[in-house]
Amino acid sequence: MRVLLIEDERRIVADVSKALFNAGFVVESCTDGENGWFRGAHENFDVVVLDLGLPKLDGISVLRRWRRGGRAMPVLLLTARDGWREKVQGIDAGADDHLSKPFHMEELVARVRALARRAKGHASAVLAAGPLEIDTRSKAVTVGGQSVAVSPLEYRLLSYLLHQGGRVVSQGEIREHIYSDDKDNDSNAIEVLVARLRRKLDMPVIKTVRGHGYVVEADASGSA
Ligand code: CA
Repeated sequence: MRVLLIEDERRIVADVSKALFNAGFVVESCTDGENGWFRGAHENFDVVVLDLGLPKLDGISVLRRWRRGGRAMPVLLLTARDGWREKVQGIDAGADDHLSKPFHMEELVARVRALARRAKGHASAVLAAGPLEIDTRSKAVTVGGQSVAVSPLEYRLLSYLLHQGGRVVSQGEIREHIYSDDKDNDSNAIEVLVARLRRKLDMPVIKTVRGHGYVVEADASGSA
């Protein structure tokens, strides 16, 4: 899952990027509103974390422009502690959630996880496809209750596919949402990765749709 972080305080950018990466997200960041608006308007992100006070273009304006342009990705606003008016303004402008600064990193990560799954219609933090379950809080992967050790990249692939709830996704889309840069991922990297994950899971959960990509038929709701 891919997150766009728009925030002008470098320390917050560094801390949030690290925490979200450790939680299994790929993070792209921008430090001004114009650049951030552009990326959110032209690239696909699963969740956006948007600061309100930004150079060049403020957060509310960025959000309004996206929503007017039909961009529907979930947005978490970062607001000032006592800024109830800006929270109301933000919600009316199309924000899905908000968090006051200073915040606890665990809370930000939990809110981002919740936005990512709810946008795809998942009520639970545990995503399942038959005997396969991934717990998005701990990144634990189990098949029939037995734990399966996966690499961070394999986890990102599995998490992305399970979040899609039965939608077929192309290799290009997968590449965009699980790699933090385009280095060292050649054209058959995804095929190799899928093959390795299939061997580890030892069950036919990732299906190939010839000419289109891959699909996991996730259950409607998890167990926790
Ligand atoms: Ca700011």
